Amino acid sequence: MKKGKPSVATADSGPKPPPPPSVEPELSLVVPFYNEGEGVEAFFEETLPVLRKEGIAFEIICVNDGSRDLTLARLLEQRKKEPRIRVLHFTRNFGKEIALTAGLDHARGRAVIPMDSDLQDPPALIPHLIAKWRDGHKIVNARRADRMSDSWMKRATAAAFYHIFNKISDTPIPEQTGDFRLLDASVVADLRRLPERDRFMKGLFAWIGHASAEITYERPSRTQGRTSWNYWKLWNFALGGIISFSRFPLRIWNYIGLSIAVMSFFYASFLVVRTLLFGRDVPGYASIMVVMLFLGGIQLIGIGILGEYLGRVFIESKQRPLYLVQRRYGFPEEEEDGGDA
Ligand code: UDP
Ligand code: MG
Repeated sequence: MKKGKPSVATADSGPKPPPPPSVEPELSLVVPFYNEGEGVEAFFEETLPVLRKEGIAFEIICVNDGSRDLTLARLLEQRKKEPRIRVLHFTRNFGKEIALTAGLDHARGRAVIPMDSDLQDPPALIPHLIAKWRDGHKIVNARRADRMSDSWMKRATAAAFYHIFNKISDTPIPEQTGDFRLLDASVVADLRRLPERDRFMKGLFAWIGHASAEITYERPSRTQGRTSWNYWKLWNFALGGIISFSRFPLRIWNYIGLSIAVMSFFYASFLVVRTLLFGRDVPGYASIMVVMLFLGGIQLIGIGILGEYLGRVFIESKQRPLYLVQRRYGFPEEEEDGGDA
């Protein structure tokens, strides 16, 4: 048998983009992009100098999360200038949590930093995160000193969410900490072992454990583009987070049911005694209506909560892949032009 077939240069191998560097990156940035076309250039203009100055071997994994604007074209433009920019192009919008997951799945660095593409996670902090990591911390959180860049309403609802979440969840999450943080490769490896579809990243980060260090920063407001989060999306995000990290909403119904049963018992005893003493009394339509409506409402809420959990069991049981990548740009295991759909 002849071994090592000589590689034949194909005729149509025109100007190929530079091959990905063979050195393993020390640092991977994971950056989700959703309709951020206008901001792509600014993002790299600010981020690349920081990384180059740091003198670290890096890669930037950009996840194009089904953008409907020029994001992909702009990313590929940047990639021509800097081959360490790699792009995962999703078949559709899968949401930020999934985009982050995909990025973490593909990251090869010994440290990984997930960050937003709208420069709300300041790249200038990267050296500080790395410094703490080099001191031996496996997780370095970036905590917002204040949220003055957010509206009053958003700050109030966020505070309420953290408060409730940390009261009823078994894995408390640090307040005022977004997804911007540094994760050691071993932590990322642990994260990859969590297969759930309902990915509340903040919770998953916390679930893994490990002692973490922290730096604080002031979160700037978005420079361009618009946030894709409205209050309905935020509500669903918060609800999803609580439901995937707490059984409290399920279990509370035992206690609600029990208290209502106990109260009914006393009320029934009272009625018996009253009837014995004062005889039968027919009027009572209003009180019956109130009790019926109240109990009906309580039962519906209980069923609704069951539905929330059951719906998630349904989703998990289908075992669908978390995301579909239409095309990868710059990943060694993939052909640059292999358009797998
Ligand atoms: N994003 C995403 N998919 C989505 C929504 C948002 O990848 O479905 C990205 C977005 O491009 C940005 C980051 O997630 O890089 C944070 O989004 P945004 O700035 O809208 O959220 P906020 O900062 O208001 O929490
Ligand atoms: Mg933002």
